[in-house]
Amino acid sequence: MSRPTGSELMEKLVALCKRRGFVFPASEIYGGINGFWDYGPLGVQLKNRLRDRWWRDMVECPPLGPDGHPLSIVGIDSSIIQNPKAWVASGHVGGFSDPMVDCRETKARYRADHLHVLNHETGERFAFVEGEVEVALKRAKKVLKRSVSEEDFESGLLVDLAEEELEMIWAPGAKERGTLTPPREFNLMFSTTVGATGGDDNVAYLRPETAQGIFLNYKNVVDTSRVRIPFGIAQVGKAFRNEVTPRNYIFRSREFEQMEMEWFCHPDEAAKWFEFWSEQRLAWWRSLGIQADNLVLREHDQDELAHYAKTGEGTVDVEYRYPFTDPAFGELEGVAHRGSFDLEQHQEHSKVKLQYFDPQTQERFVPHVIEPASGLTRGVLVILCEAYDVDESRPSPEIMRIPKSLAPIQAAIFPLVAKEGMPDIAEKLYLELRREFVVQMDVKQSIGKRYARMDEAGTPYCFTIDGQTVEDQTVTVRDRDTGDQQRVALDSVAEFLRAGLAS
Ligand code: ATP
Repeated sequence: MSRPTGSELMEKLVALCKRRGFVFPASEIYGGINGFWDYGPLGVQLKNRLRDRWWRDMVECPPLGPDGHPLSIVGIDSSIIQNPKAWVASGHVGGFSDPMVDCRETKARYRADHLHVLNHETGERFAFVEGEVEVALKRAKKVLKRSVSEEDFESGLLVDLAEEELEMIWAPGAKERGTLTPPREFNLMFSTTVGATGGDDNVAYLRPETAQGIFLNYKNVVDTSRVRIPFGIAQVGKAFRNEVTPRNYIFRSREFEQMEMEWFCHPDEAAKWFEFWSEQRLAWWRSLGIQADNLVLREHDQDELAHYAKTGEGTVDVEYRYPFTDPAFGELEGVAHRGSFDLEQHQEHSKVKLQYFDPQTQERFVPHVIEPASGLTRGVLVILCEAYDVDESRPSPEIMRIPKSLAPIQAAIFPLVAKEGMPDIAEKLYLELRREFVVQMDVKQSIGKRYARMDEAGTPYCFTIDGQTVEDQTVTVRDRDTGDQQRVALDSVAEFLRAGLAS
């Protein structure tokens, strides 16, 4: 069996992630809850490593700028709930919505901009969700009473149809036509009430993006740290969107994590920085070991631009070839030129001046902002998709080739048998290594089964203490990717691991 692709790959991956403790459906014992996921022992470790890598490369050791000097970026951690006026100013209360249609018959709900339609010259229309055109063709064959192919139709999107045209649509799985409601705008923000007496006046929102927390703290950061324009403020944290159709596993969920950085610069320099960050972010994802041809940069069309990007120069997405989009690509990160939209809006609504004063040029201006915004949990999905592989020659054919530096467990230590002094040597090695690395000791089952468990967990190295160790103080090390084994001195295991994980 070779490595599966498409929906078969997703099925296998989801099963492995559940079986090994990467990702579980939230509230599983109650039947789950659509759009929410929990990260298990291996999943949280992987997610934290990806987060830490981003933080390290963004905040603690940011890249060098176009002039060869290090950039200045600071971090914050803002509240999930903010004054609701902030979300009015940012445009989210008025404009953060998706068009939604319901099927009156099947009760299914769709995003109108994700629903495709096959139009026939007779006026009959057949709706389908992405990737399910076959189902629509089957339905068309039944209704039109003749064999059909995709070429017999003009295809389009449901959002582009006039209301009376909806009457002629056969919705997926519906027995009659005309069961779809006209698209309605649906605000994606989760609301809650603050305080014990919470009435309508106390409505607050769970943040739909971490970015606004940064704009709200722009003045605090400028006033308290020694940042000078251009500089960045970064944040990692939870965001919540009441997605109309959460799907594709953790790709589109209702609670997720983002890694966002707002880069504040002089308006005249914004175009230069937009280009810089677009290239930089693509290079960063590549540096994690993701195959270059699975990643692309794609410029947004004018009609795709978000409400904030209208004053800016555009948006570029870093896209990945997910198994469910293959051969096409889907968003992993957006790099947006937000112009001065956010700071101007907050300035107007809060009446607090958010201008920047340049002491050198004596110029006062509202900075422009370039925003690289990525999904941490979506990044985890990319790492998982990329890592899944099959090798029939192994005791367990499934291997997770997670980049070594991101592996949830970095090494395993196995005493070959639970006697002849081997467990003692293993425990001594374990106690030494765990101070610096994430290591697991496993004494149970055959050595083949123990290797298989670690292959599925994505553990790069397994060290086995055997009879020879007792004699010459060397251990066997097995490499996850090649399956090759070699012997290294017991007292050089830490050094070996340090070098291997950095490679
Ligand atoms: P989409 O068009 O897919 O709804 P978006 O363009 O609205 O996404 P942004 O607002 O730019 O997304 O958010 C930045 C990043 O946050 C995205 O690139 C993605 O990685 C992540 N993200 C956004 N929505 C979700 C979600 N529902 N689940 C998981 N990650 C998400």
